[in-house]
Amino acid sequence: MDIFDEIIRCMKEEASSSGNVFVRRKDLAEFMGEQIPAAVRPAPAPQAVPRIELPEEPPAAPPAMMRKALPDLSNMNWQELHQCALQCAACPLAPTRTNVVFGCGAEQTELMFIGEGPGADEDAQGIPFVGRAGELLTKMIKAMKYDRSEVYIANIVKCRPPENRNPSDDEAAACIPFLKRQIELVQPKAIVLLGAVPVKYLMGKTGITRLRGNWMEYEGIKVMPTYHPAYLLRNPAAKADVWKDLQQVMAYLGKL
Ligand code: SF4
Repeated sequence: MDIFDEIIRCMKEEASSSGNVFVRRKDLAEFMGEQIPAAVRPAPAPQAVPRIELPEEPPAAPPAMMRKALPDLSNMNWQELHQCALQCAACPLAPTRTNVVFGCGAEQTELMFIGEGPGADEDAQGIPFVGRAGELLTKMIKAMKYDRSEVYIANIVKCRPPENRNPSDDEAAACIPFLKRQIELVQPKAIVLLGAVPVKYLMGKTGITRLRGNWMEYEGIKVMPTYHPAYLLRNPAAKADVWKDLQQVMAYLGKL
C-alpha cells in the first residue's frame, strides 16, 4: 500500500465514523492528480544510473630527455670527450640507448676504422663492432697484420638507431663533432670507412659501390672507403673486393 491508498483509507474511515466527508472532493482530486506537497510526495523509484566508462588514465610518460646542444669539443682531451658523450642528449637517439658506444682501441695510432652506428650487441655492451660483423672486422684487422687493440674503431653516431636503421641526417649531424674530435686525437695516417654511411657523413659523398677502393682525403688524412662487414656477411663474394681495398691501405702503411 502506498501513501495515496493510506490517505484515501483514512478519509473513508473518517467519513464512515463521523458520517461527514470533511475532505473536499477538490482536495481529493488534487491528491489523486498528484498535486501533492513535496513533503509527502513519494520519492521516485531510484533509477539505475548508467555506468559511464571513463577512459583509463594513460600511464605517465617518462620525462622526455631534453635535447641539449653539444658544448665546444675542440679542446677536449679523451677523458673529457668520453664523459661528454656519456651525458649527451643532443639528438633523438639519446632516450632509447642502453649505452653510449663511444669507441675503442689505441688512442693514438696510424689506422682507424669508422662504421655507421651501434647495433643491438654494441648497444648492450657499449663497445663498437662486437656482434658477428664485429668478429669479421677483427679478422680483417688481423689479416692486415694488426691487433684490434692497435687500431681505433668508432662510428658516425654513438647511440643505437632503433631497429638498426641508418642514422638520420639530423642524428649524424648532431653526433659528428665527437668523431671529428676523435680523429684529431687519434691522428691516424689512414682511415678505413666501412660502408655507405660513414662515406656520406664524413666525406659528403654517396655511392659506395663506385667509391670503394679509391683513395679520398679528409683533413690531410688518407681515407679508403670499402664495404661494411655486415654487407660481407650477406654477400661473401664481396670479400675479395674488400681485401683489395685493405691491401692498398696495408701498402700505404708499409705492411706489405
Ligand atoms: S647519437 Fe651522438 S649526438 Fe646523439 S645522443 Fe648519442 S652521443 Fe649524442
